[in-house]
Amino acid sequence: MTPVLVAGAGPVGLTAALALARRGVAVTVLEAGDALAAESRASTFHPPSLEMLGGLGVLDELMERGRISRAFQYRERSGAVIAELDMSLLSGDTPYPFRVQCEQGKLTPILLEHLLKAGGEVRFGARVRDVLPHAGGVQVTAADGAVHRGGWLIGADGAGSAVRRSTGLEFEGLTYPERFLVASTRTDVAALLPGIADVNYVFDPEEWLVLLRTPDHWRVLFPTAEGTPDRDELDRLPDRLRGLADTAWDVAHASLYRVHQRAADRFRVGRVLLAGDAAHVNNPLGGMGMNSGLHDAVLMADALAGVLDGGPESELDAVAAARRDVALTYVGRETHANWEQMRDPERYHAELRALAADPAAARRHLLRSSMIASLRDVA
Ligand SMILES: Cc1cc2nc3c(=O)[nH]c(=O)nc-3n(C[C@H](O)[C@H](O)[C@H](O)COP(=O)(O)OP(=O)(O)OC[C@H]3O[C@@H](n4cnc5c(N)ncnc54)[C@H](O)[C@@H]3O)c2cc1C
Repeated sequence: MTPVLVAGAGPVGLTAALALARRGVAVTVLEAGDALAAESRASTFHPPSLEMLGGLGVLDELMERGRISRAFQYRERSGAVIAELDMSLLSGDTPYPFRVQCEQGKLTPILLEHLLKAGGEVRFGARVRDVLPHAGGVQVTAADGAVHRGGWLIGADGAGSAVRRSTGLEFEGLTYPERFLVASTRTDVAALLPGIADVNYVFDPEEWLVLLRTPDHWRVLFPTAEGTPDRDELDRLPDRLRGLADTAWDVAHASLYRVHQRAADRFRVGRVLLAGDAAHVNNPLGGMGMNSGLHDAVLMADALAGVLDGGPESELDAVAAARRDVALTYVGRETHANWEQMRDPERYHAELRALAADPAAARRHLLRSSMIASLRDVA
């Protein structure tokens, strides 16, 4: 059987491949790296992602490695809590009314193991260079000149996607002026800031930040000034952390990265589909990037399996269009609104306090922030 090819063994590519393999579809993943990426990136799994990972049989293992977080807080820099939202308000909406905090690098080995057991193939050191249509399928040429043929190709090769570039699609949107500085620390933040939740959005016009707990670390995300050298920002980090709590912070890792809000013109071109960061990127405020990519992966893989079973391709077009709609009108808008809110505490304090005091309004807010609404609205 001609396999479905998947470019990229990140969380999105492996999820798509596993969803296909479980439906009996032959699948080959082409991964540029020699091993799975281990860098610390996404660390929040929202309820719909937990439901989908449950459907793929990998949730128990993820939850064993992760941390269940039932509430999150909006806070002031002074340490005062503006509002705490309790996700148990979603207990009628999802079997998982919480977030699981776990680095994406802990999910990908689980996905890989299940994929191999389900009969999928993964080729490491296979960097996709270009893609051409080929007799009822696609022909992929790798950087080493090897040629791979497949019936379909899912491009899940990240923000710099060679698949997207090869199809000639634009990737329009904006780049934020500031870079984001992410530090992982072994310091026990819960001991320094009693009452703090596992996930915290700290509002301030200049020094807004996010504080997240993962199983092994706390992570702090700060914006940086525009145009400053990375070295200066890393040198300033200890002072900025002492501004949070006056102690000798034990920093395990810190890095800076640029943040964009962009989406490809289309998520399907002929026999090529785009999913995850290859299709859309957004700022990390709200933890929606990887999660929406996982939703792309499962929904597109199901639609593609339906086509391979003889169903109409119009279903695949509808899913591709719906996922682009979610990326633009939902994930893009929510994450950008989070960026605006965190910088404008005066404007949003009263609104957030009122929200926390009104269970019906809090539930509506949680349906959006947990991404349940993004799937229901489109369905
Ligand atoms: C610091 C940081 C924090 C984040 N926090 C969150 C969060 O809390 N929640 C959230 O939902 N999202 C978060 N994100 C976003 C999240 O990390 C991404 O959305 C997610 O990794 C996308 O997964 P992916 O599989 O689409 O792409 P990637 O994870 O980038 O994986 C792409 C894979 O493709 C491979 N590849 C690249 N080029 C090629 C090629 N030409 N051929 C073959 N293979 C190729 C790469 O080696 C990689 O293995 C964060 C991102 C960053 C940088």
